[in-house]
Amino acid sequence: MEIGNGRHISFWYDKWSDKGIIAEVLGDRGMIGLGIRKEATLAEAALRFRRKRKHRLEVLNELERSLDTVRSLICNESEDISTWRGKMGYKPNFSTRETWDKLREVNEKQMWAKGVWFSMATPKFAFIVWLAMTNRLSTMDRIAKWSQGVDNVCVLCHTEAETRDHLFFKCSYSDQLWRYLVGGILGSSYTDSWTEIVQKTSGSTLDKKSLFC
Ligand SMILES: [Zn+2]
Repeated sequence: MEIGNGRHISFWYDKWSDKGIIAEVLGDRGMIGLGIRKEATLAEAALRFRRKRKHRLEVLNELERSLDTVRSLICNESEDISTWRGKMGYKPNFSTRETWDKLREVNEKQMWAKGVWFSMATPKFAFIVWLAMTNRLSTMDRIAKWSQGVDNVCVLCHTEAETRDHLFFKCSYSDQLWRYLVGGILGSSYTDSWTEIVQKTSGSTLDKKSLFC
């Protein structure tokens, strides 16, 4: 927060001090020790008339001193400004991208990412493909691990076990569809192997239009 008139900054719950969020620094006991109500704004905490107390906890005395500084900073003519943490420190505009990067754990990029998240991709399909890539679809082999006794035979061909690699595209039934759909595009490099298909959709062997299809 950038302090203006202090009327839109919460004393306890906004980060106006380099000590951090005061409620987190002091905890419940600090709230009682300082005698400032939970709903207090920074302006209220800094400007109200009261005798400065000497506290037993040094951190509370430090806070009293920062309130002195705040009192001299408060300017009634300007508004408080909320700032957002970004790549290069705090700034007044909010960026979803930078905030997301701050919140998440960044992992190494997967080799198949290009085949899942591309411009013009349909988000719903991209999500399902992502589930398939990480093998988290509810195929029968996985369901059988959670609930014992279920029949894990493929729902399409009724002969082999239903795994991701079987369902896409080894299964005699889905292989027919797959061949019908992409046989013309892939030509002699046609394959029903999951690994090879992933390599093709993430690599650069196919031309742009075929790759998109
Ligand atoms: Zn099958």
